[in-house]
Amino acid sequence: MELLKQRIREEGHVLGDKVLKVDSFLNHQIDPVLMMEVGEEFARRFADAGVTKILTIESSGIAAAMTAALKMDVKVVFARKKKSALMNEEVYMTKVHSFTKNETNEVTVLKKFLGANEKVLIIDDFLANGEAAMGLAHLVEQAGSEVVGIGIVIEKAFQDGGKRLRQHGFKVESLARIAAFTDGQVQFVEECVQ
Ligand code: 5GP
Repeated sequence: MELLKQRIREEGHVLGDKVLKVDSFLNHQIDPVLMMEVGEEFARRFADAGVTKILTIESSGIAAAMTAALKMDVKVVFARKKKSALMNEEVYMTKVHSFTKNETNEVTVLKKFLGANEKVLIIDDFLANGEAAMGLAHLVEQAGSEVVGIGIVIEKAFQDGGKRLRQHGFKVESLARIAAFTDGQVQFVEECVQ
């Protein structure tokens, strides 16, 4: 998605050799106009998947999931990373190791919001090692529903997550795929000479 790549080039900050900070439009401040475009693109790419529900994880996946859900006319549920006193009902739970925080969270979703026989589209902001997406897929499996696709805003293709999810048989669509960070600059997959 060219517009997204342009914003990453202009506003992205590379931290170390593996992390990209895009807090001016996705991870802290959110650009709703760009997020609408992102949602439309996901809706286009998964138009034939028969999606009945979108599942994401708090917090940075919510904006993209929300606009995609709006376009696809389905509800969006976000899995929680921390237990809330308000969640005193039955939950599905899985453990997810956070790449950026280097901690393992018990990720939960209320059973009443993730029923059986749903066709679920998983959406997240970044794909690194695939822990978050695999965890969400595990929640869907527990519910007796099906993952019909995984939509990622920014995939870091030099990490293992994309390969892991595709080998698992999931249809993964990433709107921007990063091949490498070279001298603090983002290099997209299409720009790399094969
Ligand atoms: P994974 O679970 O695929 O290893 O990592 C994806 C999760 O970690 C995403 O939910 C995202 O919040 C976070 N993440 C991974 N890499 C980055 C990154 O380079 N930048 C930011 N902002 N978040 C990242």
